[in-house]
Amino acid sequence: MALRFTSLGSGSSGNGLVVESGETRVMMDCGFTLGDTKARLERVGLKPSQIAGVVVTHEHDDHMGGVARFALRYAIPVYLTRGCSQWLPADFPAVLVRCIDSHTPFAIDALQVEPFPVPHDAREPVQYVFSDGDARLGVVTDLGTVTQHVVEKLSGCEALVIECNHDLDMLMEGPYPVSLKHRVSGRFGHLSNSDAGQLVAALERSRLRHLIAAHLSQQNNRPELAVRALCAAAGCEPDWVCVATQDEGFAWREA
Ligand SMILES: [Zn+2]
Ligand SMILES: [Zn+2]
Repeated sequence: MALRFTSLGSGSSGNGLVVESGETRVMMDCGFTLGDTKARLERVGLKPSQIAGVVVTHEHDDHMGGVARFALRYAIPVYLTRGCSQWLPADFPAVLVRCIDSHTPFAIDALQVEPFPVPHDAREPVQYVFSDGDARLGVVTDLGTVTQHVVEKLSGCEALVIECNHDLDMLMEGPYPVSLKHRVSGRFGHLSNSDAGQLVAALERSRLRHLIAAHLSQQNNRPELAVRALCAAAGCEPDWVCVATQDEGFAWREA
């Protein structure tokens, strides 16, 4: 059975990704309003009722802002770490909460989901590798530093969605206040293009067929800079690297 995936949108104004194996579809993060989420799902040919679960990376609004409302409206279970679960609304029904351990793989029907912890300024943040038992999709969109653990988890994947948040020069010369510049570029902030390149260079890539730059800052990055960093690291042609956008995400791909 094929592993397919698509992005509903990627960036600091909202994130959402759908992974599919057979009839199982899982959404990773939901940073959109209820109506917007529905419209974005429709664009990729899905109805909310087709989502079997929502897995959450961390509590920041661009990832979790739309989770509770969406899950509640369609009675969809939410998978998240205990630290992250503290950010659900107090009246969110416990029956829809699935607390996960950040080191323990779990299954949602036909999809295997492997969480792994990342350094980011949130409470118990994780990112995920998805698998149908054959192909693997690794996603990392919010992390300040590349750890050895992250390199191990993302090695050997068929498909990678990797944060290219900022170009360090654009960030430093740009309009952000100094404190925010330090937060974004710090150990618990976001990966720069060159950090992402170093991550890709460090990975075992013999099975890699999809490389996607994600979570680009609209203020402090340009798509061509992210693409240049990733293809230099992977030793591939620029048109082989795809960029996830805030409005459109990216279309369905098969891992
Ligand atoms: Zn984010
Ligand atoms: Zn974040």
